[in-house]
Amino acid sequence: MANKDILFSPLGGGQEVGANCYLLKLGNDNLLLDCGIGNNRYMKYAPDLYTPLKQGLLQSLQQISKIFISHAHLDHVGFLGEILKENNTSAVYMTEVTKILTGIQLKNCSLFKQKRNKQLNLYNSLLETRCTPVSFYQEIPFKDYSVTFLPAGHIPGAMMLLIRYAGRNILYTGDYSVNSTAFTTGCQLPNEKIDILITCGLHARRSTHVKNSNLNRRFMHLSYYLDNGISVACNVHQLSKGIELLKLLNKYYHNEFPIYVDESAMQVIKLLENKGIPIMEKNNYLLKNGIEKYPCITLSNKQHYFGGRFHSEDIDFSLHDDFNETVDFIKKINPAQAVIIHSPPEKNYDDISVEQVIMRDADCRTQFIFPENGEIIVL
Ligand SMILES: [Zn+2]
Repeated sequence: MANKDILFSPLGGGQEVGANCYLLKLGNDNLLLDCGIGNNRYMKYAPDLYTPLKQGLLQSLQQISKIFISHAHLDHVGFLGEILKENNTSAVYMTEVTKILTGIQLKNCSLFKQKRNKQLNLYNSLLETRCTPVSFYQEIPFKDYSVTFLPAGHIPGAMMLLIRYAGRNILYTGDYSVNSTAFTTGCQLPNEKIDILITCGLHARRSTHVKNSNLNRRFMHLSYYLDNGISVACNVHQLSKGIELLKLLNKYYHNEFPIYVDESAMQVIKLLENKGIPIMEKNNYLLKNGIEKYPCITLSNKQHYFGGRFHSEDIDFSLHDDFNETVDFIKKINPAQAVIIHSPPEKNYDDISVEQVIMRDADCRTQFIFPENGEIIVL
């Protein structure tokens, strides 16, 4: 019996911010799109890999034939080491840059702190043996479908997947950006018609959200200290975000203040610069060599104690497209079905969603689906 159904189920990151991990069944083949960890106010948590077993969607985790990692943020890759330990069958696909960043991210992921060192070596050897690095625009033909990898924008190495299966085109975006970011040019859309769009809708139910407005406010706040001769220690909890922050700080302050970067961040910077991604500017230094000029900015993923007058601040930010960009993106693709994931409801329940805006267009034929974790949808 030829089963050509397309089934989709979020195992994490459905209508919430968190452990992005999605099961896509193409006939009898099972793919995992991303494999991240979540992080709420109290704890880090894993995607729910056991619900599809209970539901009979999978008989065993060994039936997952392939795992595609869109990019190296922990909410997309943090659980990869664990799932590779559980299953010895899945092949993993990600870009070379994502692979480099993932190796470092898993090292810094504190989900399993207690068993740390042994675990790290295992994660990295699993990554080495199981992962096939792919390039942008490369197409891999598998038995019943093919997958093409497209630039997603967002952060270096981030990819979208174009999956061609049973006469239909599926685009999975992971996190993407339509416009250029500090690091990347925007995403590259395929020329073909997309039937099914599976896309991150972080701000798809927050019509009032404007990109980076919180970050600019943050920088203005930091300027207040710097202008008064007080240095600023920026603590970032994800290494890759530290690098993004350096890029943004360089852009905002134009070398006005020296920026000192800790050793682990510098290691990543060197790896990325070797891949042709420029990051450092003339006023950026290695923190380990000591601070020579105050006031300055330090950037680190752990707390340091410095001399001089310091203001210390935890910094987190979002590089996701805002509401209007999400509307434009979906309209441009104009899919028959738009599956919106990673999309927490707005606290203010009166807020509108991208669906309500796009449906006002008389020509719109898109069906919107907002699946919850554990929900199985047939596409
Ligand atoms: Zn991301």
